[in-house]
Amino acid sequence: MATPNPARDPARVIAVDTHDIRFPTSRELDGSDAMNPDPDYSAAYVVLRTDAADGHEGHGFTFTIGRGNDVQVAAIDALRGHLLGRSVDDLCADPGTLSRDLVGDSQLRWLGPEKGVMHMAIGAVVNAAWDLAAKRAGKPLWRLLADAEPEWLVRQIDFRYLTDALTPDEALTLLRRGREGADGRRTRLLERGYPAYTTSAGWLGYDDDKLTRLARRAVADGFRQIKLKVGADLDDDIRRCRAARAAVGPDVRIAIDANQRWDIGEAIRWTRALAAFDPYWIEEPTSPDDILGHAAVREAVAPVKVATGEHVHNRVVFKQLLQAGALDILQLDAARVAGVNENLAILLLAAKFEVPVCPHAGGVGLCELVQHLSMFDYVALTGTTEDRVIEYVDHLHDHFVDPVVIREGHYTAPTAPGFSATMRPESIARYTYPGGGFWAADLRDREEQTA
Ligand SMILES: [Mg+2]
Repeated sequence: MATPNPARDPARVIAVDTHDIRFPTSRELDGSDAMNPDPDYSAAYVVLRTDAADGHEGHGFTFTIGRGNDVQVAAIDALRGHLLGRSVDDLCADPGTLSRDLVGDSQLRWLGPEKGVMHMAIGAVVNAAWDLAAKRAGKPLWRLLADAEPEWLVRQIDFRYLTDALTPDEALTLLRRGREGADGRRTRLLERGYPAYTTSAGWLGYDDDKLTRLARRAVADGFRQIKLKVGADLDDDIRRCRAARAAVGPDVRIAIDANQRWDIGEAIRWTRALAAFDPYWIEEPTSPDDILGHAAVREAVAPVKVATGEHVHNRVVFKQLLQAGALDILQLDAARVAGVNENLAILLLAAKFEVPVCPHAGGVGLCELVQHLSMFDYVALTGTTEDRVIEYVDHLHDHFVDPVVIREGHYTAPTAPGFSATMRPESIARYTYPGGGFWAADLRDREEQTA
């Protein structure tokens, strides 16, 4: 029997609260693209509550775009039994054990494995555990990761299915090398932040005047890259790319994003037709599952780069995309895969293959989360921001307690303890679906109109 340790906090996880939060973004066409014409940006949100004296909670969520959110919340609810009663000390000392227990639940694993709704639910819960760990450590998550021992970080990763491309020893070597000079980079990060690009100018539902105005403003605000949604109509895309290029000049990068709209041949023809406007990357040209298709597009559209990742299910698919030479830019997402632990594996894979990571963000709170992963990567893994930018979209941040701060086209490094995941209680109350203040009034209005 283990000797009782009087210094040990006996605190346990005592509640797992879930919330279905939806914002009515479809009314302004914010977030509209070729595959998602009417998104209501939503969060399936989870709060881990404990009986610890410090009162800290772990907050996490995953991002959906409307009606799928009730399915997503139900998936998080299905994980509750793994959490209740867990020691808070153990959870925070080793979130990897929670991650492995959740991924390994054999009855739920059948729904994937390691993909889709259940995997995203695991991501929300695992990220909530990391938020709690960082709050208890009194550090922003990026700092907790950057200060951690390389050996401990390696133990946080599930290397199953990865060792043909990345072994634990190789990961350890990368992390040890990443620590050299980390103090100086941490100082520089706190001084000037991490480079961002903006997608806010280029939603498909915006007219040319609005696009031009927002693109000019982005450059004036210090961004060196913008992104346009494409893929619905080629003539429209040619006109919009021309307008954007005229607005930003030759030196600002323009990325284009088709949101999986095309077959392979169409992706190649369409991207070539837009090549005259010097797009930096074509994002999600086709199905995120089509590894060989991405490789074919990449070969055909060079020097335009191929970017993907926001819908890539897990570390195994990322491994294959890298092995197949199918992408130039890896766009991990903080809340699509199984949380921080799996994203550590993905960051290490990208570092091994020397492919820059430019994370997907936007949605609800994805900017708040993913900045921590890129900042860790800069301080203590790859040590560079060269050709690396984090996506930025400028809405819904005011619903968060520690919203991202953009200064001169850079994400300012968060200093508050945690994963920046905590949403304001009044926002949760107002936008909970269907009973929150906003939606209750909205449903009442609609009933009156149809009566
Ligand atoms: Mg995208």
